[in-house]
Amino acid sequence: MKRLNKLAVSEYFYSLQGEGRTMGIPAIFLRLTGCNLMCGGYGVEKDGRLRDGATWVCDTIEVWMKGTTFSFEDLVQTLNKELDFINRLNQGVHLVITGGEPLLQEKRIVAFLDYLETQHHCCPTIEVETNATFLPSAAFDQRVSYWNTSPKLQNSGMPRHQRIKAGVLTWFAKTPKTMFKFVIGSIQDWEEIQEDFLNEQLIPKSQIVLMPSADSIDSLLKMNRLVADICIENQVRMCTRMHIEIWDQLTGV
Ligand code: SF4
Repeated sequence: MKRLNKLAVSEYFYSLQGEGRTMGIPAIFLRLTGCNLMCGGYGVEKDGRLRDGATWVCDTIEVWMKGTTFSFEDLVQTLNKELDFINRLNQGVHLVITGGEPLLQEKRIVAFLDYLETQHHCCPTIEVETNATFLPSAAFDQRVSYWNTSPKLQNSGMPRHQRIKAGVLTWFAKTPKTMFKFVIGSIQDWEEIQEDFLNEQLIPKSQIVLMPSADSIDSLLKMNRLVADICIENQVRMCTRMHIEIWDQLTGV
């Protein structure tokens, strides 16, 4: 059990949730180390060159590939000092556990949430951002209020068998706590979602949210229109990217 008293963390910050159903809610982000995918294609982490049909690269690789392993005690102490962690969570600020792929450290996260409750009387509203390739345990699911999943398409450069796990997707689809967010760069992306996810009955349309692929205000304004048109035509929910609208290309906010 002692091994479980640690979390590998890449970064943490206090901001607003910038996308999805809880967009605009004040949240503390805890980015955990490591991911089972490498969006952009394996090797992109070495030279930045896109591979295997990828059209975009994960924008947090540099962050999640490095990290520090904290004991729970040290982590809370550090977060309290820098972010007023426990006070903020107790006032309703959400805790967004992201990555990388946080489910790689699932057991440790559950132990950390138990620790927050027993040692600090803190039971925050939890959001988890996951690529939906790992099945969460019942103990974790019980703690989570929002599963913000982001299944990957061909444009990630990842092989299909690594990014689409039918059993995992249908599990997530059964809970109303789940949204499936897809980043859209072209009409072909929507056609692929229909073919690989909807026609295969892996996920329902009512739980999908489409978000424009963009890394600046200029590209966002252009892509917003395309995604809005797809959503109106197909009765699908849309969300934009609040952080880019407010801060453009500034990172760490
Ligand atoms: S799954 Fe997410 S964190 Fe992992 S490489 Fe892809 S975009 Fe990055």
